[in-house]
Amino acid sequence: MELNFLISIPKFFFKFDRIYLFIISLLAMMSNLSLYGQLEEISRIVPSHIVQMEKINNQFILIGRSDTYSQNYVPDGMAVLLDKSMMEMEVSFRFREKNGNLTRWIKGEISRLPNSERSIIYIRHEMCQKSVMFYFKVISQVGFPEIFSSGIFLPDLEKYPKGKAVRKQQIADLPKPVIITRSEWGARPSTHGYSTHPYYTKLTLHHAAGFSAEDIDEGKEQLRAIQDLHQFVRGWSDIGYHFVIDKAGNIYQGRPETVIGAHVLGNNTGNIGVCVLGCYHPPELYCGDWLSDETTSALVALYAWISNEYNYNPNILLGHRDYPNNDTSCPGNNVHENLPWFRNEIERYLNLGGPPLEFSISSNYPNPFNNKTKINYQVPSKNHINIIIYDLLGREVKTLINQVQSKGDYKVAWDGVSNLGEAMSSGVYFLRFESDRFSKNNKIILIK
Ligand SMILES: [Zn+2]
Repeated sequence: MELNFLISIPKFFFKFDRIYLFIISLLAMMSNLSLYGQLEEISRIVPSHIVQMEKINNQFILIGRSDTYSQNYVPDGMAVLLDKSMMEMEVSFRFREKNGNLTRWIKGEISRLPNSERSIIYIRHEMCQKSVMFYFKVISQVGFPEIFSSGIFLPDLEKYPKGKAVRKQQIADLPKPVIITRSEWGARPSTHGYSTHPYYTKLTLHHAAGFSAEDIDEGKEQLRAIQDLHQFVRGWSDIGYHFVIDKAGNIYQGRPETVIGAHVLGNNTGNIGVCVLGCYHPPELYCGDWLSDETTSALVALYAWISNEYNYNPNILLGHRDYPNNDTSCPGNNVHENLPWFRNEIERYLNLGGPPLEFSISSNYPNPFNNKTKINYQVPSKNHINIIIYDLLGREVKTLINQVQSKGDYKVAWDGVSNLGEAMSSGVYFLRFESDRFSKNNKIILIK
């Protein structure tokens, strides 16, 4: 189910009666638009509503409140995603506690997201832990911010069990893909260390839900921004993902993949997390990306290497949303629907020991021919191959190949003689190449 949220309040509406705000929020809810953005990967989304917008003594004061959330939650903190139309603002939070008390206002923090018109206001405080609802207040000299979404930080209560990690299944001799190192993108060290994976049992794909990069320079900047968000705003030890891939197919190292990450609530042990930059969930605003060919190839090569190196069966690859208690659309519909294809393709890559080649067949040469004509072709994976010569009426003249062939480069020749050993007369013939997934006709001219 989509969570609804008040999307946008044009700035002139503060002059009008609150009934307008009510109508606008109703319209936004009916249109079912949402923008969870970067909050989706670090928090449990909780809808919120604006309860007050007032201009007092040249100060624009906006107060919002969240819906009530479960008493079972013990949140570390709260965050609200908003536009950064005002560069200077003060933010504060207060909480409704489980016992009904309303706390005092506490000063919050602001984190600006580079290359976007968004900021996150947030707080991490022990007072959050007893809350069942929160208020946020933004005071600006410039205008009212636009509120996109809000969420609460749930602690990772997972117990990291002991175990013995088995590595190196080495089905194939796969080289490690080129990976941009932490020092190359300017990573900070972890703030409070790591726990090592006791075993390797899960593979998870994410999308960055708001961070995006078309090339390596943008990619490095976005990696630093994600690390800022995860370390400073969310309070994790380091960037939560083990690998990040941009739209040009560049792969970046996040956390070392041998240590437990922070990317799937309650399921981080033994789980290697890969995140694709971009936003792939069209029901949300500004989230209509499709995976590029470059990202797709990089994902397959990386997962094949991880599977080989850490003894994974590629069939266990899941999307973030497939785990229980992870109430998220990540990695987005446009990625999630491709997961079965990815599992297959990673397995194929592993079995082939490299990227699947394409079928290809050359023109025959010489052509026209008198004595003998040759054809080169390439088989990308073990396959039943048929290469047959037909005459103009479609009658079979000569079967050149009818057998299962393994991956490789092949040559075949035709000397102008039929299956019955007769020399064929001058004229036009067709060579038909057929496999499970590919077929092609070549025209051949025989001149006596
Ligand atoms: Zn995710």
